[in-house]
Amino acid sequence: MGHRRCFSFAQKRLILLRSGYCCELCGVKLTIENFHCDHKIPYSRGGATAVYNGQALCATCNRKKSDSV
Ligand SMILES: [Zn+2]
Repeated sequence: MGHRRCFSFAQKRLILLRSGYCCELCGVKLTIENFHCDHKIPYSRGGATAVYNGQALCATCNRKKSDSV
C-alpha cells in the first residue's frame, strides 16, 4: 500500500467540515477553495495522509508553519 503526500478532495472536505470551516490555528473563516490541508505530523516525519492527521489552515498559518519547520 503506497503512501500519498497529498490529501484527496474527499479527505479535504472531511477535514474542513471537522474544523467547522475555520482555521484550526487562528480561527479565520475558510472555504473549500481557499483552505490549506496540512499534516499535523509532517509527511516527512512519517505522518499519514489521513483525515485524523489533517488539519485545516488558512494560507497565512500554513505559510508560517512551513517557515518554522
Ligand atoms: Zn490561520
